[in-house]
Amino acid sequence: MMLRGKTALVTGSTSGIGLGIARALASEGANVVVNGLGDPDVIAKLGADLASEFSVQVHYDDANLANPGEVSALVQRTHERFGRLDVLVNNAGIQHVSPIETFDAALWDQVIAINLSAVFHAMKAAIPLMRSQGWGRVINVASAHGLVASPFKVAYVAAKHGVVGATKVAALETANDNLTVNAICPGWVLTPLVERQLSDRAEANATSVAVESRELLREKQPMLEFTTPEAIGAMAIYLCSDAARTITGAALSIDGGWVAQ
Ligand code: NAD
Repeated sequence: MMLRGKTALVTGSTSGIGLGIARALASEGANVVVNGLGDPDVIAKLGADLASEFSVQVHYDDANLANPGEVSALVQRTHERFGRLDVLVNNAGIQHVSPIETFDAALWDQVIAINLSAVFHAMKAAIPLMRSQGWGRVINVASAHGLVASPFKVAYVAAKHGVVGATKVAALETANDNLTVNAICPGWVLTPLVERQLSDRAEANATSVAVESRELLREKQPMLEFTTPEAIGAMAIYLCSDAARTITGAALSIDGGWVAQ
């Protein structure tokens, strides 16, 4: 119960990796602010289940991270509700796949706003609060695409490289404040974000999701296995532990060997 009495804000935690991280932090006793889009009834149940399973307080905030004002307001509201903010996980993200020539400019703006600018706005609001508390952990969910590129994902790859850069800057600026700022760089994780890519590929290639899952892994990962949201949650817990107190500014891969090549 390393995080009992602490407060964690996990953006984009109504599904996938964010939900895995929120569950892991709650299992260590943290009160959690869940954020993200989705069906209000499903989200309400998810929050209630999390609270009762781990005996913590869970609050849902529907801030839309495409809007900078809503990002800083989300951080402030979290602090006001629980009187502190100890762990900030910038996880919300979207994908759009298209060649540059036909990449919709409005979708470029949206991917950059949610995947990159929201990370800046949240860190800007949270770091002074953490500094005044004398302890804090910022975990930015980047990607293998924060370290290497793939075709047809220009906005996503640019945003994730930006997240890794912003993580390093924030780590330098907080190096002696008892704060750490790190990026987690997953390879393939089977979540709705990837399931959408798999069904698009299956339709385009007249194959099946099972065939495209094997192909997707084979194209990028030496290890032909998806990482689980639970494994990423465990990595987040480690980054919150005292053992990890000198890990800062790192981009930690959990990617089945993707970027080792
Ligand atoms: P997901 O689609 O399951 O979850 C994304 C979350 O972000 C959801 O909760 C969604 O509601 C939220 N979100 C989207 N737009 C939002 C907005 N405007 N405001 C607030 N919340 C918003 O996807 P995931 O795979 O769990 O992705 C989580 C993070 O992990 C993303 O940053 C993604 O880039 C990154 N990532 C995923 C993989 C993978 O293979 N799944 C690999 C590397 C990195």
